[in-house]
Amino acid sequence: IDEVLKIDSEVAKAINDEVGRQRNKIELIASENFVSSAVMQAMGTPLTNKYAEGYPGKRYYGGCEFVDEVEKLAINRAKEIFGAEHANVQPHSGAQANMAVFFAVLEPGDTVLGMNLAHGGHLSHGSPVNISGKYYKIVPYGVRNDNFRIDYEELRKLAKENKPKLIVSGASAYPRELDFKAFREIADEVGAYLMVDMAHIAGLIAAGIHPNPVPYAHFVTTTTHKTLRGPRGGMILCKEEYAKMIDKAVFPGLQGGPLMHVIAAKAVSFKEAMTEEFKTYQNQVVKNAKVLAESLMNKGLNIVSGGTDNHLMLLDLRNINVTGKEAQFMLDEVFITVNKNGIPFDTQSPFITSGIRIGTPAVTSRGMKEEDMKEIAELIHMTLTDFENSKEKVVNRVNTLCGKYPLY
Ligand code: PLP
Repeated sequence: IDEVLKIDSEVAKAINDEVGRQRNKIELIASENFVSSAVMQAMGTPLTNKYAEGYPGKRYYGGCEFVDEVEKLAINRAKEIFGAEHANVQPHSGAQANMAVFFAVLEPGDTVLGMNLAHGGHLSHGSPVNISGKYYKIVPYGVRNDNFRIDYEELRKLAKENKPKLIVSGASAYPRELDFKAFREIADEVGAYLMVDMAHIAGLIAAGIHPNPVPYAHFVTTTTHKTLRGPRGGMILCKEEYAKMIDKAVFPGLQGGPLMHVIAAKAVSFKEAMTEEFKTYQNQVVKNAKVLAESLMNKGLNIVSGGTDNHLMLLDLRNINVTGKEAQFMLDEVFITVNKNGIPFDTQSPFITSGIRIGTPAVTSRGMKEEDMKEIAELIHMTLTDFENSKEKVVNRVNTLCGKYPLY
């Protein structure tokens, strides 16, 4: 970042500090990842200078011949990876992708069934503080209180009672496989559209490890920066019959000019997602999550639903009398980064919580494997059960582990 340094030493320092933090700490936030240098390079290009409102071949500005190529590459690769008829790669983020689908199919006040935020759903699926919850009538569904898996019977009952126009499937903190076929059957029974937000599991789906929602859902939304390991951004997939309505909802409905440098980086990350290495990586993400969950449980810690099928798990801290907020703080002190997270039926407020969410995509991108997960489980257990006595030892072991897997 020499050029930044020449102009702005304050921002340069903050960037350097952040790179140091990413290098020297164990990153377990389930929604984060480390992009490749190729993806990073594509983002930092003069494509950021170009206005390209519209879509390839139908722009409102001149000079779009090269960015058209870039966007077509991103669209075609996305369609190929997920088997979709149509892709819109312009949403600036996952929340924007979701809002575009809402805007395309709903009128304000229409009823939507979305997963309860407190049970693992996302803000943009109908939280009262989000535009989705303010403009639409949201009926939340959740997980069963015995096995912590989605209660499809309750979902069916709620759908029949409330006749939603849209059912949203997908979550930010759900460690189990989603049954898209069941979602679609329920949607069909009540004449609702089905939208699947696959943001967290898009990489697993691209690699064929998690069932693909594209054959079942009318609309599939995603972020591109989580397990998919692309730049920060969003995307929408759908059948050809809905293509026009989705494209119109994104632009001019919700956004102005697309971020062409980010779309270039999306295209590069999609090319990476078509490789064997990417499949191997995603398999390792899931293997690592299983070993981490098992190792934590072997130490007497509780994992919600007793394990994980994907890249993340929820640690229920009530049996060790620690709150999510305290756990996040203690782990931060020993250079392990997680986020506090409510667990289903949590009695603590969202600012305190009884749990933390842990994910393996980022550490797996660094090259960590099963043995390292056992080490991380031990470090987490030591920190949460005997913080004062183990703090120094844990910091040393975190340093050793990070040193083994250099980043950037
Ligand atoms: N959808 C899901 C399931 C998410 O987990 C997230 C972010 O965590 C989003 C959407 C929102 O993505 P963004 O932060 O890019 O708006």
